Amino acid sequence: MHVIVVGGGVAGLGSAMVLARQGHEVTVVERDPTPMPASADEAFEWDRRGAPQVRHSHAFLARLVGLLKKDYADVYAALLREGATEMRFGDDLPPTITNFERQPDDDELAMLACRRTTFEWVLRRTAMEEGDVRFHVGTGVDGVLLDRTEQPLRVTGVHLEDGSELTADLVVVAAGRRSSLSDWLQAAGTEPVAEEVEDTGIVYFSRFYRLRDGEEYPPRTGPIGGDLGYLKYGVFVGDNQTFSVTLATPTSDDELRKRLADPATFDHCARNLVATAPWLDGRAEPITPDVHVMAGLLNRHRQYVKDGVPVATGFIPVGDAVICSNPLYGRGCAFAFWGAHLMAEAVATHPDDPTAMLLAYDRALQEEVFPWYRAGVDQDAEARRVAAALLAGEDPDGDATDPRTFMRSVFRDGLVPAMRSDAVVLRAFFRSFNLLSTPDAMMKDTDVSARVLAAWQDRENRPPEPPMGPAVRAELVALLPV
Ligand SMILES: Cc1cc2nc3c(=O)[nH]c(=O)nc-3n(C[C@H](O)[C@H](O)[C@H](O)COP(=O)(O)OP(=O)(O)OC[C@H]3O[C@@H](n4cnc5c(N)ncnc54)[C@H](O)[C@@H]3O)c2cc1C
Repeated sequence: MHVIVVGGGVAGLGSAMVLARQGHEVTVVERDPTPMPASADEAFEWDRRGAPQVRHSHAFLARLVGLLKKDYADVYAALLREGATEMRFGDDLPPTITNFERQPDDDELAMLACRRTTFEWVLRRTAMEEGDVRFHVGTGVDGVLLDRTEQPLRVTGVHLEDGSELTADLVVVAAGRRSSLSDWLQAAGTEPVAEEVEDTGIVYFSRFYRLRDGEEYPPRTGPIGGDLGYLKYGVFVGDNQTFSVTLATPTSDDELRKRLADPATFDHCARNLVATAPWLDGRAEPITPDVHVMAGLLNRHRQYVKDGVPVATGFIPVGDAVICSNPLYGRGCAFAFWGAHLMAEAVATHPDDPTAMLLAYDRALQEEVFPWYRAGVDQDAEARRVAAALLAGEDPDGDATDPRTFMRSVFRDGLVPAMRSDAVVLRAFFRSFNLLSTPDAMMKDTDVSARVLAAWQDRENRPPEPPMGPAVRAELVALLPV
């Protein structure tokens, strides 16, 4: 069949590649006029205004790595050849963990250290080399074509911004977080698409660096980030001797938002945070002159199938166009690639029945991906509550009868210390973080819960956990250059 893929980001490229390998003819329509770079460093300078997050830190989780290794070993090998590296669970454990024994399924617990631009460049190159993938770049899609003689109404192609039209047997919409698919469908005559939108409550600040000649990354046995309540932060290893630092402030913190956008202030702040300080001790120099800032970060779920009824057929939404999640959890690219995979399975199972195809895809997405989205939304609601209390100078744990106070205490005085000393707990956490278990797997694992609770019950018998930076916001603000 001929498939149009709208959008050439991770979801679109993943979709194009997997569909081409299934024997379909694919046309990718990407609005950004993007000549192919020749190297990872050129890709970092890519003009990708349609996906501005490409110059923010990206973690590539084990769920995504596993899919690549299993079904796209050539892509994975190309990523490693272009300078990405694998980070395996067990390789850089803190010295306080003494009970680590490699388990058979630790092999699947590997993340990829890579800049997002490098990842996308390698994916694009591979998709371009597939025989049956054509790229139509520089013009966006601005509408869909509908066949009104069918019920449900059926998408038969797309309308482009230059006035032309392309027809297809299937339209995969991978147009990212700002996808207009719902509007296009409604403008063409379908019922409105329901959507759930929740603000993540954060603004992202990222800057990239490269190690100077002869320098090395600091030991990676320590923490790679921290959550101070009023500021979340992390360091991300990239490819080819690069790394990036991301700071995230609450959207309501106007002062920090303004000040951290200044590169010198950003670096100074990172030097005063425990996990990032060793990285900015002079061993590296910035490769982004500016700090990249991104606001408007939303959790968004668009329901193209509601109560088992599709709003139309002949299309499948993949990636951020259907489920867009808080970047802090690093799940978006895994969701996008995983979604492309589920889409291709539905296409293979129901090639001649567009309704069954969309319903099968949606069911799989709801079962496998959506629970992670929901867990993130719940976590964000709690993080927003804590940040608002701290900004107002209140104690977020002031109400001892609030179950959330107890949960925060178990997290802070049980889970965090247990992860520093117990490989069993750390492994369970990493499996969950990397989307290899289920969102409630840790809580349901009686062995892991018992270990966490034992650490919590022992909290009075050990010194408090070392802070990951200034405990109070005012302390950090006082440290920043005026
Ligand atoms: C600040 C930030 C940090 C993030 N960090 C991480 C992370 O650490 N790990 C992780 O896995 N994920 C992360 N994500 C999420 C991740 O970037 C996205 O989930 C992922 O890019 C989704 O892929 P996509 O293909 O759906 O969308 P995108 O990658 O955004 O691609 C959409 C593409 O569609 C094109 N397009 C849009 N409209 C049209 C149109 N009308 N016609 C033609 N083309 C169109 C755009 O130009 C773009 O190329 C982060 C996101 C943000 C915002």
